[in-house]
Amino acid sequence: MKLIRFGEPGRERPGLMLPDGRRIDASGVGGGADYDEAFFGSGGLERLARWLADTGAAAPVVADDVRLGPPICRPSKIVCVGLNYRDHARESGMAVPDEPVLFFKATTAITGPNDDVIIPRDGTKVDWEVELALVIGRRATYVERDRALDHVAGYMLHNDYSERSFQLERGGQWVKGKSCDTFAPLGPFLATPDEIRDVHDLRIWLKVNGESRQCSSTCELIFDVPTLVSYISQFMTLLPGDIISTGTPPGVGLGHTPPRYLVDGDEVELGIEGLGSARQRLRACR
Ligand code: ZN
Repeated sequence: MKLIRFGEPGRERPGLMLPDGRRIDASGVGGGADYDEAFFGSGGLERLARWLADTGAAAPVVADDVRLGPPICRPSKIVCVGLNYRDHARESGMAVPDEPVLFFKATTAITGPNDDVIIPRDGTKVDWEVELALVIGRRATYVERDRALDHVAGYMLHNDYSERSFQLERGGQWVKGKSCDTFAPLGPFLATPDEIRDVHDLRIWLKVNGESRQCSSTCELIFDVPTLVSYISQFMTLLPGDIISTGTPPGVGLGHTPPRYLVDGDEVELGIEGLGSARQRLRACR
């Protein structure tokens, strides 16, 4: 299944994208359910699959011009992984890390896949990072690697926007540069694992104003999906709906000589094979 949420910001409703590309309203799955911690933690995906098989054909169609929101409701946390692509490590001349580098991103940064991205006040170095994100389906605490995929609800596209001056020049941790409003566009949809043939063999790409900037494959991941779920669960409990963003391939603005950052009016387009594409317009803070 491909889960979507649609409607105005903050008032999104759950839906599904069908194999033929049609989008349907899944509010009928019952209980006013949204795609949140309670949904994933209580067998919501199984209920949704049953609802789709039984009555999905009669569900209202969502018009193509209706805004897509982030595919899941605001989770308890976004855990991000830094420097997790071999080709990115090669490009930046950095050693492959012995253990995953982790940082947090505020959940208030989440926005829809095609919403405008706002350059924050005093922001001068806004940068892009196309990433494969996964969503936790089942509570994970001290999970073994060989059971880790049992805890994954699905996969989605994420652009881990960063304000490099906040991240690297203002002291302390990366979280300052990662958490601005609109800095986490998610989607277009959350794909359940059965939709993806091999999550470690997906083309991943990003363009700025039509020019290719990032182009790689998830086969370059240093720490793969089960390793990350297991590893992170040794330090914290992952709740249903939580997001892990697995890191970005080479070609970010910071990696260019001289660095190239985004300005008002720029257009960023990105995608991952099997997970769709998204497009964001940069806007100055007003
Ligand atoms: Zn990132």
